[in-house]
Amino acid sequence: MQKDIATPIRTQEILKKYGFSFKKSLGQNFLIDPNILRNIVSHAELTEESAAIEIGPGIGALTEHLARTAGKVVAFEIDQRLLPVLADTLSPYDNVEIIHADILEVDVQQMFESQLQNYKDVMVVANLPYYVTTPILLKLLMDRLPIRGMVVMMQKEVADRITASPGTKAYGSLSIAIQYYMEAEIAMIVPKAVFMPQPNVDSAVIKLTRREVPPIQVIDEEFLFKVSRGSFVQRRKTIINNLQSSLPNGKAKKDIIIQALGKVGVDPTRRGETLSIEEFGKLSNELYEEFH
Ligand code: SAM
Repeated sequence: MQKDIATPIRTQEILKKYGFSFKKSLGQNFLIDPNILRNIVSHAELTEESAAIEIGPGIGALTEHLARTAGKVVAFEIDQRLLPVLADTLSPYDNVEIIHADILEVDVQQMFESQLQNYKDVMVVANLPYYVTTPILLKLLMDRLPIRGMVVMMQKEVADRITASPGTKAYGSLSIAIQYYMEAEIAMIVPKAVFMPQPNVDSAVIKLTRREVPPIQVIDEEFLFKVSRGSFVQRRKTIINNLQSSLPNGKAKKDIIIQALGKVGVDPTRRGETLSIEEFGKLSNELYEEFH
């Protein structure tokens, strides 16, 4: 087996060989600990019949661990300077495809249909660029890709928000948007020392597992997310106050909102952070006709 890319010495050698300098603006913090990589990949539960989609392979630290475990790896990298590096570091693996692209611009659905149809299951596995974690996750979920799930590293504070339960400080519209589609758990907390350069924030890996059916059937998912976002605009305010401000013409239609809250058994003086996804779902169904 090849020597790991992700040791501090080999990483330094590769960076030096290519005269590579990190771009903070692209969230470039590379992993330099093979144990962490093995751990991340084991959470993805890949087999040779699986495919992995990676976002931001960097110099290939995680990519090679995926290539050793999965049948196929498709990795999207925005930084053109890394393409010759990856061609070199990943040359021992013939099951990796690197695509030079901004993941936010890619038609992943189309790539899926053309390249990943024949795999038993597909996982997204990545050490994400932290500056775009949320847009990337929401894009992949809204694209309705037939993935089994995701194992992704991010800023710990965002991981806490994604996995939060109702009634906690971290719970909000992001928790609802993600947990509507996926079961979410923190897989591990990751120390700063395993990155080069070290990030300023703490990191965590989360595991998302696609739900067979959503926790509640809603008339319109977009509208559910609109109602939940609108309920958290000012966290300290009651749900009735937030909805009055956020729904179109909400102030004039206060009685209609109160009636909808009553129908689904939610006291108007509760705060958004106390409502479960199921309650938000029922509420959005009640409000849909009047406010969508
Ligand atoms: N996977 C490598 C590792 O773990 O060592 C690198 C991870 S580093 C945190 C994030 C990577 O994402 C960088 O290589 C960066 O260039 C790339 N990146 C940043 N924004 C991106 C985007 N919008 N689309 C694709 N790749 C992106």
